[in-house]
Amino acid sequence: MTETSVPDEDGPLYSSRRKIHPKAVSGFFRRMKWQIMIVALAIYYLTPWIRWYRGEGQPDQAVLIDMANRRFYFFFIEIWPQEFYFVAGLLVMAGIGLFLVTSVVGRAWCGYFCPQTVWTDLFIHIERWVEGDRNAQIRLENAPWTAAKYRKRITKHGIWLMIAVLTGGAWVFYFADAPTLLRELLTLQAPFIAYASIAVLTFTTYALGGLMREQVCIYMCPWPRIQGAMLDENSLTVTYNDWRGEPRGKHRKSAAAASFGDCVDCNACVAVCPTGVDIREGQQIGCITCGLCIDACDKVMDKLDLAKGLISYSTLADYEASKAGAPQKSVMSAILKPRTAIYAVIWGGIGLAMIAALLVRDRLDASFEHVRNPPFIQLSDGSIRNGFDLKLSNMRLEPRMFEIALNGLPGAFMTRANSEAPPARDMRIQVPGNGTFEARVFVTIPGELAEDEGAFSFDVRDLSGTDAIAYDANFIAPE
Ligand code: SF4
Ligand code: SF4
Repeated sequence: MTETSVPDEDGPLYSSRRKIHPKAVSGFFRRMKWQIMIVALAIYYLTPWIRWYRGEGQPDQAVLIDMANRRFYFFFIEIWPQEFYFVAGLLVMAGIGLFLVTSVVGRAWCGYFCPQTVWTDLFIHIERWVEGDRNAQIRLENAPWTAAKYRKRITKHGIWLMIAVLTGGAWVFYFADAPTLLRELLTLQAPFIAYASIAVLTFTTYALGGLMREQVCIYMCPWPRIQGAMLDENSLTVTYNDWRGEPRGKHRKSAAAASFGDCVDCNACVAVCPTGVDIREGQQIGCITCGLCIDACDKVMDKLDLAKGLISYSTLADYEASKAGAPQKSVMSAILKPRTAIYAVIWGGIGLAMIAALLVRDRLDASFEHVRNPPFIQLSDGSIRNGFDLKLSNMRLEPRMFEIALNGLPGAFMTRANSEAPPARDMRIQVPGNGTFEARVFVTIPGELAEDEGAFSFDVRDLSGTDAIAYDANFIAPE
């Protein structure tokens, strides 16, 4: 019986999980997984430590989600809350990018880039390093509890927990200045939410990467189901070429060898599979298309002096063609198809639109909320006053001087609460870089307001640049 966690269709509705002990393998796909894993982990753990000078008094962390001040920093880009559409655009691009990748190379995301795959792979290597390869692990699993078994298990779980803590720790560094937060964490002066977040992420990393592993992909993740519907006959998937391998048989040197296919039923492909799949049974939801079974089988084929590729990355169309002895399509057929082109155009279009929006976006934002309680005040000298709550955002990193001028309302003037400045039709306000200025502004008209004169605007402009906006408002007077 093969070691697999995927329920047999003819088996019982529920069967307990058989633990998988993937065997070490080397080869092209294993090397690729190593490289992607190292790059992915390095990006995740090191990014919060990259410094990026933005100017005096500005955060110098290259990637920072500053919840307290409601800013997202990404190297030279700062996103304000009102620009959240950039983040939404990035998420849409990520989703379409995933569709694009799936339509070309099947579940490459699952096999190489998904955090669940990367961390599980890391945990599997730690396990192998501590307990030995597959056979040693199985022996240890079945052995009675001795001091050596306790030592190995405690070491393995200890290292897993350490990685899990580092993973949770790295996550919170994205939300605060990393060196400061590290100091606070070590001196127990960090906010409670930081410790709570690390605890939750430690638990999830340890549980998902160390204990649940392939079960997350097979039972919990919706993506394999969605991807299943997105694959077509020109999508690349890991394929067992049964037309070449069957009938399988172990005894290649026996007299009956001539009637066998190339598969020697050595089980090497199953032994290395991190999800316990036997790819010879056909496409399965548990197969994350990591390609490790290709590496394992290619080695066997090498030893037997047979052509590699009994298991290969192949499209269904190529599989059928090879089976019929017809020539295979070029790999470009997996890439150049209408669906892929549509995804690529949408993905590129959103990307270009976002770049264009980034280049021309306003770096000034102003609002003048009319005070509604009361909407106006009639002063003792007969003049009428309206209040407006001004919020002026300087979205550049350097301090700027802005001018606010009344446009309309003949004879009206402005004053600012808690300001000594004399009444005028315009006022100047200095706003710190990457900052917001808030104040109550009063607009007063000395006499009565003609019926059609209520509409006016606050014209705001940057005195040192070209940023300018007009905010339409309405003056309310007694009827
Ligand atoms: S069957 Fe092969 S490609 Fe699929 S998950 Fe297992 S080792 Fe990876
Ligand atoms: S590794 Fe290759 S030869 Fe061995 S069982 Fe798998 S498909 Fe057959």
